[in-house]
Amino acid sequence: MKIQDAPIDLHARFAQVRAAAAAAPFPDWAQRADALRRLQGLLVAHEAEITQAIDADFGGRPAIETELAEVWPSLEEVKGALRHGRRWMKPRRAGVGQWFLPASAQVIPQPLGVVGIIVPWNYPLYLAVGPLAAALAAGNRAMVKMSEFTPRFSALFQRLCAEAFPAGEVIVVTGGPEVAAQFSALPFDHLLFTGSTPVGRRVMAAAAANLTPVTLELGGKSPTVIAPGYPLAHAVQRILAGKLINAGQTCIAPDYVLLPRADIEPFIAEARAQAQRMVPGGLGDPGFCSIVNDRQYRRLADALDEAAGAGARCVPLFDGPARDDTRHRLAPHLLIGTPDDTALMRDEIFGPLLPLVPCDSADEAIAHINARPRPLALYWFDHDRARVDDALRRTHAGGVSVNDTLLHIAQHSLPFGGVGPSGMGHYHGQWGFDTLSKLKPVFRQARLNGMAIFLPPYSAMARRMLGWMKRL
Ligand code: NAD
Repeated sequence: MKIQDAPIDLHARFAQVRAAAAAAPFPDWAQRADALRRLQGLLVAHEAEITQAIDADFGGRPAIETELAEVWPSLEEVKGALRHGRRWMKPRRAGVGQWFLPASAQVIPQPLGVVGIIVPWNYPLYLAVGPLAAALAAGNRAMVKMSEFTPRFSALFQRLCAEAFPAGEVIVVTGGPEVAAQFSALPFDHLLFTGSTPVGRRVMAAAAANLTPVTLELGGKSPTVIAPGYPLAHAVQRILAGKLINAGQTCIAPDYVLLPRADIEPFIAEARAQAQRMVPGGLGDPGFCSIVNDRQYRRLADALDEAAGAGARCVPLFDGPARDDTRHRLAPHLLIGTPDDTALMRDEIFGPLLPLVPCDSADEAIAHINARPRPLALYWFDHDRARVDDALRRTHAGGVSVNDTLLHIAQHSLPFGGVGPSGMGHYHGQWGFDTLSKLKPVFRQARLNGMAIFLPPYSAMARRMLGWMKRL
């Protein structure tokens, strides 16, 4: 199934949403909560349809993975906004400098207006609903552009949102790269893009023409470090948990593992044993996700062939067939000795392939990480607290889980976002509310104040006063 790029007039739709925002620029909490409840209701009432649509788009994605990694975190994000949004939107007291007393100051969170949201295919529900919840909590209207690679779910989400929201509140757009390019050129008040780093560059360039601020949630190669002496069985379990879900098609999946040379063979044995316990049916197991489409499958299969051709040892983690070309399913593989100039070592893998790279000290791991683009996530398995803290200080990453994988994304008290080539800006919880609000600083002058002293022509008193002010 392919979405036809319908000849939609994006500008007319944008004008409709913009007019609605202008007519009611500061929705009160009751209106925002109502919109959030409609979003929550849509998720609850249509969970089965949503799960089926995504399953069909992937050609096989376990329902539990959609529930765990999409429906539940989406509900968490909406419920968090419902629980805390009234407080988030309250004016925040701020201090004034001593020389300005008795004036007062506040920061007033104000809706920005119309927020654009661009969604990738890998978690199409969560990456639409998470930003949308933040936009609605902050009192904005939103236009959401879905991915062309999840056509069934994109069409379903478009229909469900059209039923739940008037067109001036939320509009969902489907279509391919041409529609996406036009979409990112609309004069949004903020544009939140989730997708690849190369497309992120184009989005930022398009937004720059309107001076539209952007939040870019991008990708990259997320390193995983296992320190010498760390219990391997635990590290393997948590790394496989992060790599097998969605067959590795996760922006923060562990991309490669840096581990002591002596641990490589034990890691392989442990990973094969654990993977076969986790996915007993191997490649045909309905509990293991397919690669989303032929294009992505070909990319991964070609990268695997390239690595093997360049001398890498490729170890499938399942017994039995390692590839199913017709159903685009690929067994997880470990790769050892993969040359640096292969696609697997150069580009984000975004699939169930996991290179193991020998690395015998924390310093070596830190140097390896720092020699490469700043990643979206870093995973560090180590029980030596001082060494972990040192690594945290000496490396950059969008987010970190220590002694686990993925789970920093599920903490709504933590800002989520990349750094440098893995992204800019943050959302989740209040971080998303703040990103999609104008945090408007307001200074309120008191009736009685001493400001008249600093009027021209400046008096001798003003000059003396300024002297004190500089010295104090
Ligand atoms: P993608 O960049 O190819 O596409 C993302 C979206 O951008 C799609 O809706 C697409 O239609 C749209 N798009 C395509 N061309 C465009 C253009 N010229 N202008 C504007 N929009 C355009 O990414 P993808 O393949 O869907 O997703 C995979 C990538 O997303 C990976 O790199 C992954 O790491 C990243 N990702 C990041 C996060 C995160 O939270 N940081 C989450 C999920 C995925």
